[in-house]
Amino acid sequence: MNFLEERIVKDGIVKEGNVLKVDSFLNHQMDIHLFEQMGEEFKRRFKDKPINKILTIEASGIGIACIVAKYFNAPVVFAKKTKSINIEGEMYIAEVESFTHKCKNQVIVSKKFLSPDDHVLIIDDFLANGEAASGAIRLLTEAGASIAGVGILIEKSFQPGRDKLIAQGVDVYSLARVSRLAKGVIEFIPEEC
Ligand code: 5GP
Repeated sequence: MNFLEERIVKDGIVKEGNVLKVDSFLNHQMDIHLFEQMGEEFKRRFKDKPINKILTIEASGIGIACIVAKYFNAPVVFAKKTKSINIEGEMYIAEVESFTHKCKNQVIVSKKFLSPDDHVLIIDDFLANGEAASGAIRLLTEAGASIAGVGILIEKSFQPGRDKLIAQGVDVYSLARVSRLAKGVIEFIPEEC
């Protein structure tokens, strides 16, 4: 097991509906030493790509995106969630269904912060059905930016997110790939070399 998998086994809690709760170290209280290790690992994996920007969706991806951005010496852009429908003109907009809240949100990024010159690494905490990452990809496609890859902390491999992204030709790297969640049981797919 790698360092993140060990931490998930130690502190993760399996909830109803295939939800893994990691709020004691990832997405409510945040263990910054762990974040540094994860940032370093994304840098190792994506170092050969000319990444000049990190994109995430608010809110839970922002913390890790900032640490990853430090390793790439790049700014972070986070797509804002809004329920208002009528923002046009200066924004890129995509519709995303939330896995945890089961509602649809628009995610928006100002046109000022994404352009065809950008090589963007998308970062998020979880990959489940791939809705959030696909929304981020749609924003980048609209902006004409290059998609360098998608970096995920915890992928739930029994859900279709990874396959959806791979089918779009996107390079996906997940630090922990959960193959099974059940009461008191968390199993992983062995990591990539
Ligand atoms: P997707 O869009 O891939 O279906 O789901 C990804 C988003 O849903 C992530 O940004 C994350 O916030 C949330 N999410 C999905 N599955 C889980 C889970 O098991 N636990 C937690 N805490 N968040 C999840």
